[in-house]
Amino acid sequence: METQANIPPLALAEIPPGHLNIMGYIDQSEVNGPGCRAVVWVQGCPRECPGCFNPDSWAFEVNQLISVDAIAENILSNPNNTGVTFSGGEPFAQASALAAVARKVKAAGLNVMSFTGYTLKQLQSKSAPPGAQELLAELDILIDGPFVQSLAVNSPISPVSSSNQNVHIFNPAFQDQISWASDQIEVHVLKDGDRIVTGYQGWLELT
Ligand code: SF4
Repeated sequence: METQANIPPLALAEIPPGHLNIMGYIDQSEVNGPGCRAVVWVQGCPRECPGCFNPDSWAFEVNQLISVDAIAENILSNPNNTGVTFSGGEPFAQASALAAVARKVKAAGLNVMSFTGYTLKQLQSKSAPPGAQELLAELDILIDGPFVQSLAVNSPISPVSSSNQNVHIFNPAFQDQISWASDQIEVHVLKDGDRIVTGYQGWLELT
């Protein structure tokens, strides 16, 4: 039976309107979706899946607050970004703000993909988190379902990390583009010297 995860409302109340609470951000990733993309990792996930690649993203506490306008400007300021991927954490815990980001970058011609620990069926149900329909309406690609360690996929060419997850292609233009280099790992060096390691299985590590 599918179970819904509860998102703590008090934690989300600390996020000012028109803002996101994120864990990390990079430009020009080629291992988090088709083409060259920005990636936004949101802070906060209610699932605590054993074997999760980003356990530091679980806590619903303020990490980096950034306005929708500012993050959209960041994404669009790098001409090499052809799209953006929302990861986490649980993107649908901040669905309305991400939908607003998506609308801004799509208006400039970029595409939008999201991971989620919910199933698409849950996101389409009456008990979906607030803003779920709004965000779904903007997505070109959705990869749904939580990571299940006993169903882990160890193929480096798989776009999913456990076999219960599904790739939903809402925009037919991406039908033959589910072939990003998921077997590679990228190291991004940020302006402040921090490094973000990302790649196979959506891994994010801050060092
Ligand atoms: S849904 Fe994703 S981010 Fe959340 S605990 Fe599971 S694997 Fe980690």
